[in-house]
Amino acid sequence: NDLSAIRSETRDFLERTHGFVIGGELVSPGGREILSILDPSSAQAISQVPAAEKADIDAAVASSRSALEHSSWRDMKPHSRERLIHKLADLLERNAELIAELEALESGRRIGDVRVFDAEFPVHVLRYMAGWPTKISGETLPVSAPYMPAENHFICSTTREPLGVIAAITPWNVPLGIAAWKVAPAIAAGCAVVLKPAENTPLTALLLGELALRAGFPPGVINVVPGTGKVAGEYLVAHPGVDKVSFTGSTAIGKRIGEVAGARLKPVTLELGGKSPVVIMPDADLELAIPTAAMAIFANQGQNCCAGSRLYVHEAVYQQVVDGVVDIARRMKLGPSLAEGVDMCPLASSEQQSRVAAYVDDSVAEGAELLTGGKSPEHPGFYFEPTVLAGVNNGMKLVREEVFGPVLAVQSFGQLSEAIELANDSDFGLGASLFTEDINTAQTFCRFVQAGSVWVNVHNILDVGVPFGGFKQSGLGNDLGRDSVIAHTRLKANYLAV
Ligand code: NAD
Repeated sequence: NDLSAIRSETRDFLERTHGFVIGGELVSPGGREILSILDPSSAQAISQVPAAEKADIDAAVASSRSALEHSSWRDMKPHSRERLIHKLADLLERNAELIAELEALESGRRIGDVRVFDAEFPVHVLRYMAGWPTKISGETLPVSAPYMPAENHFICSTTREPLGVIAAITPWNVPLGIAAWKVAPAIAAGCAVVLKPAENTPLTALLLGELALRAGFPPGVINVVPGTGKVAGEYLVAHPGVDKVSFTGSTAIGKRIGEVAGARLKPVTLELGGKSPVVIMPDADLELAIPTAAMAIFANQGQNCCAGSRLYVHEAVYQQVVDGVVDIARRMKLGPSLAEGVDMCPLASSEQQSRVAAYVDDSVAEGAELLTGGKSPEHPGFYFEPTVLAGVNNGMKLVREEVFGPVLAVQSFGQLSEAIELANDSDFGLGASLFTEDINTAQTFCRFVQAGSVWVNVHNILDVGVPFGGFKQSGLGNDLGRDSVIAHTRLKANYLAV
Protein backbone atom coordinates (compact mmCIF):
# COMPACT_ATOMS: atom_id res chain seq x y z
CA ASN A 1 0.00 0.00 0.00
CA ASP A 2 1.05 3.52 -0.66
CA LEU A 3 1.10 5.02 2.84
CA SER A 4 1.62 8.55 1.54
CA ALA A 5 -2.01 8.49 0.36
CA ILE A 6 -3.66 7.68 3.73
CA ARG A 7 -5.46 10.27 5.82
CA SER A 8 -3.39 12.17 8.36
CA GLU A 9 -5.55 10.92 11.26
CA THR A 10 -4.84 7.33 10.15
CA ARG A 11 -1.12 8.05 10.02
CA ASP A 12 -1.25 9.68 13.48
CA PHE A 13 -3.05 6.65 14.88
CA LEU A 14 -0.50 4.23 13.40
CA GLU A 15 2.43 6.27 14.76
CA ARG A 16 1.07 6.64 18.28
CA THR A 17 2.60 5.07 21.35
CA HIS A 18 -0.11 2.50 21.92
CA GLY A 19 -1.11 0.89 25.18
CA PHE A 20 -4.23 -0.65 26.65
CA VAL A 21 -7.67 0.65 27.55
CA ILE A 22 -8.04 -0.27 31.20
CA GLY A 23 -10.22 1.28 33.91
CA GLY A 24 -11.33 4.25 31.85
CA GLU A 25 -7.84 5.28 30.77
CA LEU A 26 -5.34 4.73 28.01
CA VAL A 27 -2.40 3.18 29.82
CA SER A 28 1.03 2.57 28.32
CA PRO A 29 3.12 0.54 30.73
CA GLY A 30 6.71 0.13 29.58
CA GLY A 31 8.71 -3.05 29.30
CA ARG A 32 6.10 -5.13 27.47
CA GLU A 33 6.76 -7.39 24.49
CA ILE A 34 6.00 -5.38 21.33
CA LEU A 35 3.64 -6.70 18.66
CA SER A 36 4.80 -5.43 15.28
CA ILE A 37 1.70 -4.83 13.15
CA LEU A 38 2.31 -5.57 9.46
CA ASP A 39 0.52 -4.41 6.33
CA PRO A 40 -0.13 -7.76 4.59
CA SER A 41 -0.13 -6.02 1.19
CA SER A 42 3.55 -5.11 1.54
CA ALA A 43 4.77 -7.09 4.59
CA GLN A 44 5.98 -3.72 5.99
CA ALA A 45 5.59 -2.86 9.69
CA ILE A 46 3.01 -0.09 10.10
CA SER A 47 2.52 0.19 13.86
CA GLN A 48 3.63 -1.16 17.21
CA VAL A 49 1.41 -2.29 20.05
CA PRO A 50 2.48 -3.65 23.44
CA ALA A 51 1.33 -7.14 24.38
CA ALA A 52 -0.59 -7.43 27.65
CA GLU A 53 1.00 -9.47 30.41
CA LYS A 54 -0.72 -11.16 33.33
CA ALA A 55 -0.57 -7.98 35.46
CA ASP A 56 -2.41 -6.05 32.72
CA ILE A 57 -5.11 -8.71 32.51
CA ASP A 58 -5.46 -8.64 36.32
CA ALA A 59 -5.91 -4.86 36.18
CA ALA A 60 -8.47 -5.07 33.36
CA VAL A 61 -10.53 -7.78 35.07
CA ALA A 62 -10.41 -5.89 38.39
CA SER A 63 -11.64 -2.71 36.71
CA SER A 64 -14.49 -4.60 35.04
CA ARG A 65 -15.46 -6.16 38.36
CA SER A 66 -15.40 -2.76 40.01
CA ALA A 67 -17.56 -1.31 37.19
CA LEU A 68 -20.14 -4.02 37.86
CA GLU A 69 -20.18 -3.75 41.62
CA HIS A 70 -19.33 -0.17 42.53
CA SER A 71 -19.81 2.19 39.59
CA SER A 72 -22.77 4.03 38.14
CA TRP A 73 -22.96 1.20 35.55
CA ARG A 74 -24.58 -1.12 38.15
CA ASP A 75 -27.46 1.26 38.85
CA MET A 76 -27.78 2.83 35.43
CA LYS A 77 -31.33 2.83 34.13
CA PRO A 78 -31.91 0.77 30.98
CA HIS A 79 -32.69 3.82 28.86
CA SER A 80 -29.40 5.44 29.88
CA ARG A 81 -27.54 2.30 28.86
CA GLU A 82 -29.40 2.48 25.57
CA ARG A 83 -28.31 6.08 25.09
CA LEU A 84 -24.64 5.29 25.79
CA ILE A 85 -24.61 2.45 23.27
CA HIS A 86 -26.17 4.77 20.67
CA LYS A 87 -23.49 7.35 21.43
CA LEU A 88 -20.78 4.78 20.76
CA ALA A 89 -22.51 3.86 17.48
CA ASP A 90 -22.55 7.56 16.50
CA LEU A 91 -18.83 7.90 17.24
CA LEU A 92 -18.03 4.80 15.18
CA GLU A 93 -20.10 6.21 12.34
CA ARG A 94 -18.24 9.51 12.51
CA ASN A 95 -14.90 7.67 12.39
CA ALA A 96 -15.87 5.29 9.57
CA GLU A 97 -13.04 6.25 7.21
CA LEU A 98 -10.41 6.04 9.95
CA ILE A 99 -11.71 2.58 10.86
CA ALA A 100 -11.76 1.49 7.21
CA GLU A 101 -8.18 2.60 6.54
CA LEU A 102 -6.83 1.10 9.76
CA GLU A 103 -8.63 -2.17 9.12
CA ALA A 104 -7.59 -2.41 5.47
CA LEU A 105 -4.01 -1.82 6.60
CA GLU A 106 -3.85 -4.23 9.53
CA SER A 107 -6.01 -7.07 8.16
CA GLY A 108 -5.06 -6.62 4.50
CA ARG A 109 -8.68 -6.75 3.30
CA ARG A 110 -10.27 -4.74 0.48
CA ILE A 111 -11.12 -1.21 1.55
CA GLY A 112 -14.63 -1.61 0.08
CA ASP A 113 -15.23 -4.75 2.16
CA VAL A 114 -13.96 -3.30 5.43
CA ARG A 115 -16.11 -0.22 4.91
CA VAL A 116 -19.13 -2.53 4.97
CA PHE A 117 -18.17 -5.20 7.51
CA ASP A 118 -15.92 -3.34 9.98
CA ALA A 119 -17.17 0.25 9.71
CA GLU A 120 -20.91 0.08 8.87
CA PHE A 121 -21.82 -3.30 10.35
CA PRO A 122 -20.61 -2.50 13.91
CA VAL A 123 -22.83 0.61 13.83
CA HIS A 124 -25.85 -1.54 12.90
CA VAL A 125 -24.96 -4.06 15.60
CA LEU A 126 -24.66 -1.40 18.30
CA ARG A 127 -27.91 0.30 17.28
CA TYR A 128 -29.78 -3.01 17.28
CA MET A 129 -28.31 -4.01 20.65
CA ALA A 130 -29.07 -0.55 22.10
CA GLY A 131 -32.74 -1.53 21.89
CA TRP A 132 -32.33 -4.46 24.27
CA PRO A 133 -31.61 -2.89 27.71
CA THR A 134 -35.20 -1.65 27.83
CA LYS A 135 -36.59 -5.03 26.78
CA ILE A 136 -34.73 -7.67 28.78
CA SER A 137 -37.39 -9.06 31.10
CA GLY A 138 -38.35 -11.89 33.39
CA GLU A 139 -41.71 -13.49 34.22
CA THR A 140 -44.14 -13.73 37.10
CA LEU A 141 -44.88 -17.34 37.92
CA PRO A 142 -47.56 -19.07 40.01
CA VAL A 143 -46.22 -21.03 43.01
CA SER A 144 -48.01 -24.07 44.54
CA ALA A 145 -45.34 -25.35 46.97
CA PRO A 146 -47.66 -28.10 48.34
CA TYR A 147 -45.29 -28.89 51.22
CA MET A 148 -45.86 -25.38 52.70
CA PRO A 149 -48.85 -24.67 54.97
CA ALA A 150 -52.05 -24.15 52.97
CA GLU A 151 -52.58 -20.61 54.27
CA ASN A 152 -49.22 -19.42 52.85
CA HIS A 153 -49.27 -17.85 49.42
CA PHE A 154 -46.34 -16.93 47.24
CA ILE A 155 -45.55 -15.16 44.06
CA CYS A 156 -42.36 -15.68 42.19
CA SER A 157 -40.78 -13.33 39.71
CA THR A 158 -37.74 -14.08 37.62
CA THR A 159 -35.20 -11.38 36.82
CA ARG A 160 -32.39 -11.44 34.32
CA GLU A 161 -29.19 -10.04 35.80
CA PRO A 162 -26.00 -9.17 33.93
CA LEU A 163 -23.87 -12.32 33.88
CA GLY A 164 -20.78 -10.44 35.04
CA VAL A 165 -17.31 -9.91 33.58
CA ILE A 166 -17.09 -11.14 29.99
CA ALA A 167 -13.83 -12.10 28.30
CA ALA A 168 -14.26 -11.44 24.57
CA ILE A 169 -11.54 -13.00 22.42
CA THR A 170 -11.62 -12.25 18.70
CA PRO A 171 -9.88 -13.29 15.44
CA TRP A 172 -8.23 -11.27 12.67
CA ASN A 173 -10.47 -12.08 9.73
CA VAL A 174 -13.18 -9.43 10.39
CA PRO A 175 -11.58 -7.72 13.40
CA LEU A 176 -13.91 -4.85 14.29
CA GLY A 177 -17.09 -6.46 12.91
CA ILE A 178 -16.66 -9.44 15.22
CA ALA A 179 -15.39 -7.37 18.18
CA ALA A 180 -18.59 -5.32 17.92
CA TRP A 181 -20.86 -8.34 17.88
CA LYS A 182 -19.09 -9.66 21.00
CA VAL A 183 -19.05 -6.41 22.97
CA ALA A 184 -22.48 -5.02 22.05
CA PRO A 185 -24.76 -7.78 23.48
CA ALA A 186 -22.61 -7.94 26.62
CA ILE A 187 -22.98 -4.25 27.42
CA ALA A 188 -26.64 -4.28 26.36
CA ALA A 189 -27.14 -6.91 29.08
CA GLY A 190 -25.29 -4.72 31.60
CA CYS A 191 -22.07 -6.73 31.72
CA ALA A 192 -18.50 -5.39 31.63
CA VAL A 193 -16.07 -6.62 28.98
CA VAL A 194 -12.38 -7.34 28.63
CA LEU A 195 -11.72 -7.52 24.89
CA LYS A 196 -8.59 -9.27 23.65
CA PRO A 197 -8.23 -8.85 19.89
CA ALA A 198 -6.01 -11.05 17.69
CA GLU A 199 -2.32 -10.23 18.00
CA ASN A 200 -1.93 -9.11 14.36
CA THR A 201 -5.06 -6.88 14.23
CA PRO A 202 -5.42 -4.91 17.50
CA LEU A 203 -5.68 -1.37 16.08
CA THR A 204 -9.42 -0.99 15.51
CA ALA A 205 -10.16 -2.71 18.83
CA LEU A 206 -8.01 -0.08 20.57
CA LEU A 207 -9.91 2.61 18.69
CA LEU A 208 -13.20 1.04 19.83
CA GLY A 209 -12.02 1.15 23.45
CA GLU A 210 -11.00 4.77 23.09
CA LEU A 211 -14.32 5.76 21.50
CA ALA A 212 -16.16 3.97 24.33
CA LEU A 213 -14.36 6.24 26.80
CA ARG A 214 -15.30 9.25 24.71
CA ALA A 215 -18.92 8.09 24.61
CA GLY A 216 -18.92 8.20 28.43
CA PHE A 217 -19.03 4.54 29.47
CA PRO A 218 -17.99 4.31 33.12
CA PRO A 219 -14.39 3.14 33.67
CA GLY A 220 -13.95 -0.62 33.29
CA VAL A 221 -17.12 -1.31 31.29
CA ILE A 222 -15.11 -1.77 28.08
CA ASN A 223 -11.44 -2.68 28.48
CA VAL A 224 -9.19 -3.54 25.55
CA VAL A 225 -6.01 -5.53 26.08
CA PRO A 226 -4.13 -6.60 22.95
CA GLY A 227 -1.81 -9.52 23.55
CA THR A 228 -0.88 -12.99 22.47
CA GLY A 229 -3.24 -15.94 22.74
CA LYS A 230 -0.70 -17.93 24.66
CA VAL A 231 -0.11 -15.38 27.43
CA ALA A 232 -2.97 -12.87 27.57
CA GLY A 233 -5.69 -15.11 26.06
CA GLU A 234 -5.01 -18.21 28.10
CA TYR A 235 -4.67 -16.23 31.35
CA LEU A 236 -7.86 -14.29 30.70
CA VAL A 237 -9.90 -17.45 30.05
CA ALA A 238 -8.66 -19.05 33.28
CA HIS A 239 -9.00 -15.86 35.35
CA PRO A 240 -11.22 -16.40 38.41
CA GLY A 241 -12.64 -12.89 37.97
CA VAL A 242 -14.07 -13.71 34.51
CA ASP A 243 -17.65 -15.04 34.49
CA LYS A 244 -18.05 -15.97 30.82
CA VAL A 245 -15.88 -16.39 27.74
CA SER A 246 -17.19 -15.26 24.37
CA PHE A 247 -14.78 -16.51 21.73
CA THR A 248 -14.55 -16.45 17.94
CA GLY A 249 -11.67 -18.28 16.33
CA SER A 250 -10.42 -21.68 15.30
CA THR A 251 -11.95 -24.96 16.45
CA ALA A 252 -8.62 -26.06 17.95
CA ILE A 253 -8.39 -23.00 20.23
CA GLY A 254 -12.14 -23.16 20.91
CA LYS A 255 -11.72 -26.67 22.31
CA ARG A 256 -8.84 -25.50 24.50
CA ILE A 257 -10.95 -22.58 25.77
CA GLY A 258 -13.85 -24.95 26.45
CA GLU A 259 -11.55 -27.13 28.58
CA VAL A 260 -10.05 -24.27 30.60
CA ALA A 261 -13.42 -22.55 31.12
CA GLY A 262 -15.12 -25.88 31.85
CA ALA A 263 -12.71 -26.57 34.70
CA ARG A 264 -14.23 -23.49 36.41
CA LEU A 265 -17.76 -24.09 35.11
CA LYS A 266 -17.73 -20.82 33.19
CA PRO A 267 -20.27 -20.56 30.38
CA VAL A 268 -18.83 -20.07 26.91
CA THR A 269 -20.05 -18.89 23.54
CA LEU A 270 -17.80 -20.43 20.89
CA GLU A 271 -17.99 -19.36 17.24
CA LEU A 272 -15.52 -21.61 15.49
CA GLY A 273 -14.36 -22.84 12.11
CA GLY A 274 -16.32 -24.10 9.15
CA LYS A 275 -16.14 -26.06 5.92
CA SER A 276 -19.36 -24.84 4.39
CA PRO A 277 -20.85 -26.70 1.41
CA VAL A 278 -22.41 -25.04 -1.64
CA VAL A 279 -24.78 -27.34 -3.56
CA ILE A 280 -25.87 -26.55 -7.13
CA MET A 281 -28.88 -28.43 -8.55
CA PRO A 282 -29.48 -28.91 -12.29
CA ASP A 283 -32.48 -26.53 -12.23
CA ALA A 284 -30.47 -23.69 -10.61
CA ASP A 285 -30.25 -20.26 -12.21
CA LEU A 286 -26.60 -20.64 -13.20
CA GLU A 287 -26.17 -16.94 -13.90
CA LEU A 288 -26.73 -16.48 -10.19
CA ALA A 289 -25.20 -19.71 -8.90
CA ILE A 290 -21.81 -19.52 -10.66
CA PRO A 291 -20.71 -16.04 -9.52
CA THR A 292 -22.20 -16.63 -6.06
CA ALA A 293 -20.29 -19.90 -5.67
CA ALA A 294 -17.10 -18.14 -6.78
CA MET A 295 -17.57 -15.29 -4.30
CA ALA A 296 -18.59 -17.72 -1.56
CA ILE A 297 -14.98 -18.90 -1.54
CA PHE A 298 -13.00 -15.94 -2.90
CA ALA A 299 -14.60 -13.08 -0.91
CA ASN A 300 -12.28 -11.90 1.87
CA GLN A 301 -9.58 -14.12 0.31
CA GLY A 302 -11.46 -17.17 1.61
CA GLN A 303 -10.83 -16.02 5.17
CA ASN A 304 -14.50 -16.20 6.15
CA CYS A 305 -15.71 -18.69 8.70
CA CYS A 306 -18.65 -19.45 6.35
CA ALA A 307 -16.50 -19.59 3.20
CA GLY A 308 -18.11 -21.98 0.71
CA SER A 309 -15.02 -24.14 0.45
CA ARG A 310 -16.76 -27.35 -0.72
CA LEU A 311 -18.69 -27.09 -3.98
CA TYR A 312 -21.01 -29.96 -4.91
CA VAL A 313 -22.44 -29.67 -8.44
CA HIS A 314 -25.04 -31.89 -10.08
CA GLU A 315 -23.42 -33.90 -12.88
CA ALA A 316 -25.78 -32.42 -15.51
CA VAL A 317 -24.33 -28.92 -15.01
CA TYR A 318 -20.94 -29.86 -13.54
CA GLN A 319 -18.74 -28.86 -16.48
CA GLN A 320 -20.58 -25.60 -17.09
CA VAL A 321 -20.31 -24.57 -13.42
CA VAL A 322 -16.67 -25.56 -13.07
CA ASP A 323 -15.74 -23.72 -16.28
CA GLY A 324 -17.61 -20.65 -15.04
CA VAL A 325 -15.98 -20.61 -11.60
CA VAL A 326 -12.50 -21.20 -13.05
CA ASP A 327 -13.04 -18.39 -15.53
CA ILE A 328 -13.98 -15.98 -12.70
CA ALA A 329 -10.95 -17.10 -10.67
CA ARG A 330 -8.60 -16.48 -13.62
CA ARG A 331 -9.98 -13.01 -14.21
CA MET A 332 -9.67 -11.87 -10.57
CA LYS A 333 -7.29 -9.00 -10.04
CA LEU A 334 -5.02 -9.24 -7.00
CA GLY A 335 -3.88 -6.02 -5.41
CA PRO A 336 -3.24 -4.04 -2.24
CA SER A 337 -6.04 -3.46 0.24
CA LEU A 338 -6.33 0.32 -0.17
CA ALA A 339 -6.49 0.23 -3.99
CA GLU A 340 -9.85 0.57 -5.73
CA GLY A 341 -10.80 -1.91 -8.45
CA VAL A 342 -9.08 -4.88 -6.83
CA ASP A 343 -10.91 -8.25 -6.56
CA MET A 344 -8.69 -10.01 -4.07
CA CYS A 345 -6.12 -8.86 -1.54
CA PRO A 346 -3.34 -10.69 0.29
CA LEU A 347 -3.90 -13.20 3.05
CA ALA A 348 -3.56 -11.84 6.57
CA SER A 349 -0.09 -13.17 7.38
CA SER A 350 2.86 -15.14 6.04
CA GLU A 351 1.78 -18.05 8.30
CA GLN A 352 -1.56 -18.06 6.51
CA GLN A 353 0.19 -18.01 3.15
CA SER A 354 2.32 -21.06 4.03
CA ARG A 355 -0.66 -22.94 5.53
CA VAL A 356 -2.82 -22.40 2.46
CA ALA A 357 0.02 -23.36 0.07
CA ALA A 358 0.66 -26.56 2.07
CA TYR A 359 -3.01 -27.62 1.77
CA VAL A 360 -2.93 -27.14 -2.00
CA ASP A 361 0.42 -28.91 -2.46
CA ASP A 362 -0.60 -31.84 -0.25
CA SER A 363 -3.89 -32.32 -2.06
CA VAL A 364 -2.18 -32.29 -5.46
CA ALA A 365 0.29 -34.89 -4.13
CA GLU A 366 -2.75 -36.95 -3.07
CA GLY A 367 -4.12 -36.83 -6.63
CA ALA A 368 -6.27 -33.66 -6.76
CA GLU A 369 -6.40 -31.88 -10.11
CA LEU A 370 -5.37 -28.21 -9.99
CA LEU A 371 -7.68 -26.34 -12.37
CA THR A 372 -6.37 -22.85 -11.66
CA GLY A 373 -4.25 -20.91 -9.16
CA GLY A 374 -2.34 -22.78 -6.49
CA LYS A 375 0.57 -20.46 -5.78
CA SER A 376 1.70 -17.07 -4.54
CA PRO A 377 2.78 -14.49 -7.09
CA GLU A 378 6.33 -13.12 -6.70
CA HIS A 379 5.67 -10.30 -4.26
CA PRO A 380 6.70 -9.38 -0.70
CA GLY A 381 2.98 -9.20 0.32
CA PHE A 382 1.13 -12.33 1.44
CA TYR A 383 -0.84 -12.92 -1.79
CA PHE A 384 -2.26 -16.26 -2.90
CA GLU A 385 -4.02 -16.94 -6.19
CA PRO A 386 -7.69 -17.91 -6.29
CA THR A 387 -7.51 -21.67 -6.57
CA VAL A 388 -9.89 -24.40 -7.81
CA LEU A 389 -9.23 -28.12 -7.35
CA ALA A 390 -11.22 -31.04 -8.77
CA GLY A 391 -10.62 -34.79 -8.49
CA VAL A 392 -11.07 -34.58 -4.72
CA ASN A 393 -13.15 -36.62 -2.30
CA ASN A 394 -14.54 -36.24 1.22
CA GLY A 395 -11.70 -38.37 2.63
CA MET A 396 -9.04 -35.79 1.73
CA LYS A 397 -7.62 -33.29 4.25
CA LEU A 398 -8.40 -30.50 1.78
CA VAL A 399 -12.10 -31.34 2.02
CA ARG A 400 -12.22 -32.21 5.72
CA GLU A 401 -10.16 -29.38 7.26
CA GLU A 402 -10.62 -25.64 7.23
CA VAL A 403 -8.07 -24.11 4.84
CA PHE A 404 -9.15 -20.51 5.51
CA GLY A 405 -7.92 -19.31 2.14
CA PRO A 406 -9.18 -18.87 -1.47
CA VAL A 407 -9.14 -22.59 -2.23
CA LEU A 408 -12.20 -24.38 -3.61
CA ALA A 409 -12.66 -28.17 -3.75
CA VAL A 410 -15.26 -29.25 -6.36
CA GLN A 411 -17.11 -32.57 -6.61
CA SER A 412 -20.12 -33.80 -8.57
CA PHE A 413 -23.23 -35.69 -7.43
CA GLY A 414 -26.28 -37.36 -8.96
CA GLN A 415 -29.15 -37.03 -6.46
CA LEU A 416 -30.18 -34.43 -3.88
CA SER A 417 -29.97 -37.08 -1.13
CA GLU A 418 -26.38 -37.79 -2.14
CA ALA A 419 -25.53 -34.07 -2.07
CA ILE A 420 -27.01 -33.72 1.43
CA GLU A 421 -25.07 -36.76 2.59
CA LEU A 422 -21.83 -35.33 1.20
CA ALA A 423 -22.59 -31.90 2.71
CA ASN A 424 -23.24 -33.44 6.15
CA ASP A 425 -20.17 -35.67 6.03
CA SER A 426 -18.06 -33.12 7.93
CA ASP A 427 -16.98 -32.35 11.49
CA PHE A 428 -18.18 -28.78 10.89
CA GLY A 429 -21.69 -27.35 10.58
CA LEU A 430 -21.53 -23.57 10.28
CA GLY A 431 -23.17 -22.59 6.97
CA ALA A 432 -24.59 -24.38 3.91
CA SER A 433 -26.12 -23.09 0.71
CA LEU A 434 -28.23 -24.54 -2.08
CA PHE A 435 -29.03 -23.26 -5.57
CA THR A 436 -32.35 -24.42 -7.01
CA GLU A 437 -35.59 -23.04 -8.45
CA ASP A 438 -37.67 -25.73 -6.77
CA ILE A 439 -39.33 -25.04 -3.42
CA ASN A 440 -39.56 -28.72 -2.46
CA THR A 441 -35.85 -29.23 -3.06
CA ALA A 442 -35.17 -26.12 -0.96
CA GLN A 443 -37.35 -27.34 1.90
CA THR A 444 -35.75 -30.79 1.90
CA PHE A 445 -32.29 -29.21 2.02
CA CYS A 446 -33.22 -26.81 4.86
CA ARG A 447 -34.69 -29.70 6.83
CA PHE A 448 -31.83 -32.16 6.52
CA VAL A 449 -28.63 -30.17 6.14
CA GLN A 450 -26.64 -29.89 9.37
CA ALA A 451 -25.65 -26.23 9.66
CA GLY A 452 -26.42 -23.28 11.90
CA SER A 453 -27.18 -21.02 8.89
CA VAL A 454 -28.77 -22.34 5.71
CA TRP A 455 -29.07 -20.21 2.59
CA VAL A 456 -31.10 -20.84 -0.56
CA ASN A 457 -30.00 -19.00 -3.73
CA VAL A 458 -27.57 -16.88 -1.74
CA HIS A 459 -24.47 -17.55 0.38
CA ASN A 460 -23.18 -16.04 3.63
CA ILE A 461 -25.91 -13.57 4.54
CA LEU A 462 -25.90 -12.49 8.20
CA ASP A 463 -28.11 -10.01 9.97
CA VAL A 464 -27.84 -8.30 13.36
CA GLY A 465 -31.27 -9.59 14.40
CA VAL A 466 -30.73 -13.21 13.35
CA PRO A 467 -28.87 -15.70 15.57
CA PHE A 468 -25.59 -16.92 14.11
CA GLY A 469 -23.93 -20.07 15.39
CA GLY A 470 -22.47 -23.41 14.44
CA PHE A 471 -23.58 -27.03 14.69
CA LYS A 472 -21.15 -29.83 15.53
CA GLN A 473 -17.53 -28.62 15.89
CA SER A 474 -18.37 -25.18 14.49
CA GLY A 475 -19.39 -23.89 17.88
CA LEU A 476 -21.59 -23.58 20.91
CA GLY A 477 -24.24 -20.89 21.39
CA ASN A 478 -25.05 -17.94 19.16
CA ASP A 479 -23.85 -14.45 18.38
CA LEU A 480 -26.19 -11.70 17.13
CA GLY A 481 -29.95 -11.53 17.64
CA ARG A 482 -31.91 -11.68 20.88
CA ASP A 483 -30.29 -14.94 22.02
CA SER A 484 -26.85 -13.33 22.18
CA VAL A 485 -28.15 -10.77 24.69
CA ILE A 486 -29.91 -13.38 26.83
CA ALA A 487 -26.68 -15.42 26.81
CA HIS A 488 -25.06 -12.55 28.76
CA THR A 489 -27.63 -12.71 31.57
CA ARG A 490 -28.28 -15.08 34.47
CA LEU A 491 -31.75 -15.93 35.65
CA LYS A 492 -32.75 -15.32 39.28
CA ALA A 493 -35.98 -16.58 40.91
CA ASN A 494 -37.33 -14.21 43.59
CA TYR A 495 -40.00 -15.73 45.93
CA LEU A 496 -42.19 -13.39 47.91
CA ALA A 497 -44.50 -14.68 50.62
CA VAL A 498 -47.77 -12.74 50.53
P1 NAD B 1 -7.32 -18.44 16.49
O1 NAD B 1 -8.15 -19.48 17.12
O2 NAD B 1 -5.90 -18.75 16.19
O3 NAD B 1 -7.29 -17.12 17.38
C1 NAD B 1 -8.44 -16.43 17.76
C2 NAD B 1 -8.15 -15.63 19.01
O4 NAD B 1 -7.84 -16.52 20.07
C3 NAD B 1 -6.98 -14.67 18.91
O5 NAD B 1 -7.30 -13.48 19.62
C4 NAD B 1 -5.87 -15.42 19.63
O6 NAD B 1 -4.89 -14.57 20.19
C5 NAD B 1 -6.65 -16.11 20.73
N1 NAD B 1 -6.01 -17.29 21.31
C6 NAD B 1 -5.10 -18.13 20.74
N2 NAD B 1 -4.76 -19.10 21.61
C7 NAD B 1 -5.47 -18.89 22.74
C8 NAD B 1 -5.57 -19.57 23.99
N3 NAD B 1 -4.87 -20.68 24.23
N4 NAD B 1 -6.42 -19.09 24.92
C9 NAD B 1 -7.14 -17.99 24.67
N5 NAD B 1 -7.09 -17.28 23.52
C10 NAD B 1 -6.26 -17.74 22.56
O7 NAD B 1 -8.13 -18.01 15.19
P2 NAD B 1 -7.70 -16.99 14.07
O8 NAD B 1 -6.64 -17.67 13.26
O9 NAD B 1 -7.42 -15.65 14.67
O10 NAD B 1 -9.06 -16.85 13.23
C11 NAD B 1 -9.43 -17.72 12.25
C12 NAD B 1 -10.43 -18.73 12.77
O11 NAD B 1 -11.59 -18.07 13.29
C13 NAD B 1 -10.95 -19.64 11.68
O12 NAD B 1 -11.00 -20.95 12.17
C14 NAD B 1 -12.37 -19.12 11.45
O13 NAD B 1 -13.26 -20.06 10.92
C15 NAD B 1 -12.75 -18.70 12.79
N6 NAD B 1 -13.88 -17.75 12.73
C16 NAD B 1 -15.11 -18.16 13.14
C17 NAD B 1 -16.20 -17.31 13.05
C18 NAD B 1 -17.55 -17.73 13.52
O14 NAD B 1 -18.35 -16.84 13.84
N7 NAD B 1 -17.86 -19.00 13.59
C19 NAD B 1 -16.02 -16.01 12.56
C20 NAD B 1 -14.76 -15.63 12.13
C21 NAD B 1 -13.69 -16.51 12.24
